[in-house]
Amino acid sequence: MNERLASLNDLYREISAIGHAQSVLYWDQAVNMPSQGSEGRGNSLGVLSRIAHEKRIDQRIGDLLKELESLEDKEDIHSESAGMVRTARIDYERSAKVPPDFSQRFSKHLANVNPKWVEARKKDDFSIVSPLLTKTLDFSKEYSHYFEPYDHIGDPHIDRMDYGMKADTIRALFDRLREGLVPLVKSISSCEEIDDSCLRKHYPPSNQVLFSNEVIKDFGYDFSRGRQDNSPHPFTIGMGWGDVRITVRTKEDYLAEEMFSAFHEAGHAIYEQGLKKEWDGIPLGRSVSYGVHESQSRLWENIIGRSYGFWENYYPILQAVFPRQLENVDLDTYYRAINRVKPGLIRTDADEVTYNLHVMIRFDMEMDMLEGKLSVEDLPEAWHRRYESDLGLKAASDADGCLQDIHWFHSMIGGQFQCYTLGNIMASQFYEKAVSDHPEIPQHTACLLYTSDAADEEDSVDLGGRRII
Ligand code: ZN
Repeated sequence: MNERLASLNDLYREISAIGHAQSVLYWDQAVNMPSQGSEGRGNSLGVLSRIAHEKRIDQRIGDLLKELESLEDKEDIHSESAGMVRTARIDYERSAKVPPDFSQRFSKHLANVNPKWVEARKKDDFSIVSPLLTKTLDFSKEYSHYFEPYDHIGDPHIDRMDYGMKADTIRALFDRLREGLVPLVKSISSCEEIDDSCLRKHYPPSNQVLFSNEVIKDFGYDFSRGRQDNSPHPFTIGMGWGDVRITVRTKEDYLAEEMFSAFHEAGHAIYEQGLKKEWDGIPLGRSVSYGVHESQSRLWENIIGRSYGFWENYYPILQAVFPRQLENVDLDTYYRAINRVKPGLIRTDADEVTYNLHVMIRFDMEMDMLEGKLSVEDLPEAWHRRYESDLGLKAASDADGCLQDIHWFHSMIGGQFQCYTLGNIMASQFYEKAVSDHPEIPQHTACLLYTSDAADEEDSVDLGGRRII
């Protein structure tokens, strides 16, 4: 059995080597590449995607899986070998349904979408990217059709991101959540508005990064196996065990933007860095799901990063970095400012209470587009209408409307957003359980948590060429 498992792992490590190259190319495209480079990049990524896909459906993998499944100890479902076989089987079955040339065509298409989205957002002109997004929708429908029969056209996309979930299960969950959230938002909105002007002063970006880098080191992000850069939309990307990178977006007139996106991305990266080194390059070393991934980023961003105890320790340090801006702002004022609840237009800036409403709007829209109820052409107007009805707000531009998120412009339409709400729910559950087992945790957040030097060099990572936002 061990020999067969080793052979299977070898085959996956070859696929992962291609994923490594893809990740470097993705990262370079998002952070460094000149805009005219997209065509050549698209060709390279397309070819690599096809080769990786062909390898994922290699008959040798199918044969090894069959043999391993027949040898498996059915009682020991929690062993690493059982986990490896289970995760590889999911990957194999899913990949086998889709022709490799789809991966090549779609990757090539995507490389052209990203620079157009950046341009469209900058110029606030949806028409620049609209024809390409229509093509993305066609690709997304084509992908679903490979999985027929399905209950809902969105199911293959949701399952790809959050294994085992379907449109029906997500809708039922969102309906229950909405029942509690809408009255909560209303009741908070009727209270006196919190003043967050202390966050809206001039904060030099370099000092913002200086502070957040120190904090995320304390969270446990290991810079010897990572780095931080700027990009239009923050993301985390793994290149393998020794290299998990994050990006942030700074706003010089708003302190919370860079800081909480750094906390968020560090949460993703710490999860990846915490995977075992021996799982590097094999399906077992991938995240459980995007929802679980988000549970880690939202945990550090919100449950820890917006807690009073955490800021009792870090606020004096923040004040030392920005003495002129914060010297007359006490901890309570700052704490209330970073936890202000107020419906807004931008998902990534949203408070913890309204955040999930942004997710629900996007989820409904991508399902509507897949079902053919909403065309890409009508998306900007539909977006504005939904924000008006759900949050009572109308954006002055599409840049703050349907162009604000990168998701539909760097991947398929479908299954892109439910992971955030699933992550919020899981993060609360994980934290509650952790505190019930270790009641000292809240006190620990009030003192320095870890030091980066203490990061365990034996811990490991594998992203398999995927980018987490
Ligand atoms: Zn995230």
